[in-house]
Amino acid sequence: MAKAPSISLNNGLKMPSFGLGTYKSIGEADSAIKHAIDVGYRHFDTARIYVNEEEVGKAIQGKIKEGVVKREEIFIVTKLWNTDHEPEKVEKACRQSCEKLGLGYIDLYLMHWPVAFKERTPFEYGPRTPDGQYDHADVDYLDTWKAMEKLVDLGLVKSIGISNFNSQQIDRLLDNCRIKPVNNQIECSPQFNQKKLIKYCQDRDITVTAFCPLGKQNPAENKPAFLYDAKLGDVAKKYNKTVPQIVFRYLLEIGTVPIPKSVTPSRIEENISVFDFKLTDDEIKYIDTLNTCERVVPFIESRNDKHFPFGIEF
Ligand code: NDP
Repeated sequence: MAKAPSISLNNGLKMPSFGLGTYKSIGEADSAIKHAIDVGYRHFDTARIYVNEEEVGKAIQGKIKEGVVKREEIFIVTKLWNTDHEPEKVEKACRQSCEKLGLGYIDLYLMHWPVAFKERTPFEYGPRTPDGQYDHADVDYLDTWKAMEKLVDLGLVKSIGISNFNSQQIDRLLDNCRIKPVNNQIECSPQFNQKKLIKYCQDRDITVTAFCPLGKQNPAENKPAFLYDAKLGDVAKKYNKTVPQIVFRYLLEIGTVPIPKSVTPSRIEENISVFDFKLTDDEIKYIDTLNTCERVVPFIESRNDKHFPFGIEF
């Protein structure tokens, strides 16, 4: 059984350095999570917008009841959605996530994006304006953050963090917060390695989680290119590993916490089996050259919002 070592957060708590993503796994998350726990995963990433918190929570509760894991060994991450940024909505949204998960507290509660959306019923990903942009609400993420700090005081969440924040937004937050974010969850893969933003976060004692670590897969077109790179294939052969495993090892070595999603038992096991080898400096340097700065999640439907995070270099 592969076990990911834990890393320290700036509040003294710990987070397992490898997790399971659960986006787009409705109906499949239950068996994926149960298998993941059996093979050593302890860190799970969900969000209100994935509409699977109940399923994720039930799967974990099942394994706790079986005696396979204890609650305190599990690290559950969920996220405040963009329609819940108004300070008066934050506690209610967090309590709803807590209730759905049924695990008592949340280990890490992230602000999913620095942008806020207007709310529509029924709940939807992003209400749109006639020009196809998201329908933004005028809420400053600093006010949302202040409401998230209270969640720590209330004991609903152990740690709070951010996701998809750029360097300027991080500094603005650090200049105005009472509780520092422990983590910034960002897109990170060999095609978009985020080295500058990672260093920026590390210098401020903020850990970085890597989402979309495998890029946008399209096997018919051999995409993303890094998964089909011949030299990466050779590196994989050298260590008797797969190319995705080399990718996860790279992401660990550049200082991130990868959270690949999989609902396939063999891949779930394969992905976390990356703690028994290390890449050489030359191999890491080679993978650095595959950086094309191409995002899987450009979020362009928010590009006109004043808090759009991807309008600057990093
Ligand atoms: P990933 O890069 O994790 O890729 C997931 C895809 O890769 C699935 O189709 C999966 O297939 C496949 N896959 C997994 N392992 C392997 C493997 N070893 N070999 C080949 N294919 C594999 O993308 P995600 O977008 O899911 O990102 C990971 C997680 O990050 C999300 O699930 C979510 O939790 C989080 N996230 C956060 C965002 C944010 O804004 N904060 C944005 C996007 C994601 P299968 O399941 O069929 O095995």
